[in-house]
This record gives sequence, structure tokens and C-alpha cells, in this order.
Amino acid sequence: MAEFGSQQILKPGLYVVATPIGNLGDLSPRAKHVLGQVDLIACEDTRVTAKLLTANLIKKPLVPYHEHNGPVARPKIMARLAEGAKVALVSDAGTPLISDPGFKLVAEAQDAGHYVSAVPGPCAAIMALSLAGMPTDRFLFMGFPPNKTKARQDWFRAELRTKASLVFYESAKRVADCLADAASVLGDRQGAVCRELTKRYEEVRRDNLGGLAAFYGAGEAPKGEIVVVIGPPPHGDEGDSTALDAETLLKAALKHMSVKSAAAFVAELTDVPKKVLYSRALELTKGD
Ligand code: SAM
Repeated sequence: MAEFGSQQILKPGLYVVATPIGNLGDLSPRAKHVLGQVDLIACEDTRVTAKLLTANLIKKPLVPYHEHNGPVARPKIMARLAEGAKVALVSDAGTPLISDPGFKLVAEAQDAGHYVSAVPGPCAAIMALSLAGMPTDRFLFMGFPPNKTKARQDWFRAELRTKASLVFYESAKRVADCLADAASVLGDRQGAVCRELTKRYEEVRRDNLGGLAAFYGAGEAPKGEIVVVIGPPPHGDEGDSTALDAETLLKAALKHMSVKSAAAFVAELTDVPKKVLYSRALELTKGD
């Protein structure tokens, strides 16, 4: 195991540095050391990073690097690397490049022959996997789902037979609809909603997808930041290419029966709760 010496002098190059996802105590000693040694810090939002640096008594020049200014900012950062500067890349929270900007900068720096290294640390998706109690031998990180129901259902449908736990980020205001779509497409798998990780109101709610959809659909939208983990298909389902998802069955059933009967019928076939299917059936028949 390599030793971390606090006097370690950094080589010129690019350092991808993970920062806390809520609890400031999670900034590692090495992350702090690197941020204190670099010439320049490229960050998503200079105000957010300035707060982190102030809390750690670090003062460094900050340059914004986010999804909208990449083409303009990247050549400037590359020019600094070419001059022999030490540059850190951070995001607002967690590990850069994980649903955050950075991959093009890392690729360009690598291709230009610069030294590129990372200081690993907090990542909401990985922490959620540590807490969800789902198999982690294979998992698929899916970023953020689409916002609209149809696109979101297609997004889940594409993974119907993926033999892996699914991990994704979702906004609190959309989580109930998203879980309902997940339940209607993927069936009644295990899920976990991991909220406000490392923060005061940290919470992990485990249930089947229907139960989670019903819980978050019942009250006000939850507060804070969320990662959803969904377990793999139950053993035996993965290879069944004729299996139909609840959404498809519901659409077919609605052609022949009432909303209530269709919801009850599909609930029996799929284990998705009747309540979730009923409200989805109402949506599908709206305007008929
Ligand atoms: N790069 C970050 C990482 O390593 O986790 C993720 C950046 S992504 C733009 C932000 C999303 O991550 C949030 O919308 C939320 O879904 C999730 N997230 C970030 N911090 C979180 C936390 N403390 N608890 C739960 N989810 C969190």
C-alpha cells in the first residue's frame, strides 16, 4: 500500500478530486492536500467550491468548468496543463464525471500525454449500493431517467432483462412517478430509495417497487437528494423473452375491459399493486 505523505509534492498534471456529497467531514486528507497544492481548480460552480475551500482554509484560483462552457474552458485548461500547471477538477459534490462534467477534459489531457490521476472518494451511487442491500456483483449505473412517462418507461423497458441491479439518480419531485413507471414496467422487484446520504436526515427505504411507488405517491414529494436502486430480475425471469411487462399488459387489457377490471387483471398477472395499475390505467384512458 502506498503511503500518503502530507509533504508529498505534486507532479504537474490533472487531478480528478472527489468531494463530499453532504458531510464535509468526508473530504479525505489526500483530497485536501491536493486541493491545497494545485495551481488552479476547475469546478462546476465557483460559489459551491469556494465554500468547500473556505471550510478547509484553502485559497486557490477557481475556473468554471461545466456542461455549458466546455468548448471554451477546455482549451484554456489544456493550455495551463501544457505550461506545466497542476490542475484539480472537482464537481459540486461527489466524484467528477459520474453524472457530472469532465470526461472530455480527462480524455484530452490523457491524449496530450499529461499526468492524470484521481483522488477517489464520495459518490452517491456507490454509497447507495453500500446501503440498499441489493446484489452488487453486477450493477448498471443509469444516470438520470428521462422526465416524461413514455420516455421513462422505454428507458426501464430497455433494461427489463438486464441481469444486474439498476442504480440511478432522480429528483425528489419526480421520484413517485418514476417509481410507478418502474413498477409498471419491471414488475414487483425489490427497490431502495436512498435519500440525503451522509446528511442529517439520511434515510433508506426498502420495499418492493409497488410499495415504494404507493408510499411516495401518497403524500407530499420528499425533500432532498435521491438515489434509487432496483434489484435484478427474479431468478428465472431473465431468460424469458416472451414475458410481457405490466404496462404492455395493461394497455392490452384496457382494450377489452374497464379501468378497474384491467388493473385487477394485470395485478394478478404481474404482482404490481392494483392501486399503482389503477392510477396508471386512468392516465392511459384520459381523453378517451
Ligand atoms: N458526481 C456526483 C456523485 O458522485 O454522486 C453526482 C452528481 S449528480 C449531478 C447529482 C445527483 O446525485 C443528485 O441529483 C442526486 O440524485 C444524487 N446525490 C448527490 N448527493 C446525494 C446525497 N447526499 N444523497 C442522495 N443522493 C445524492
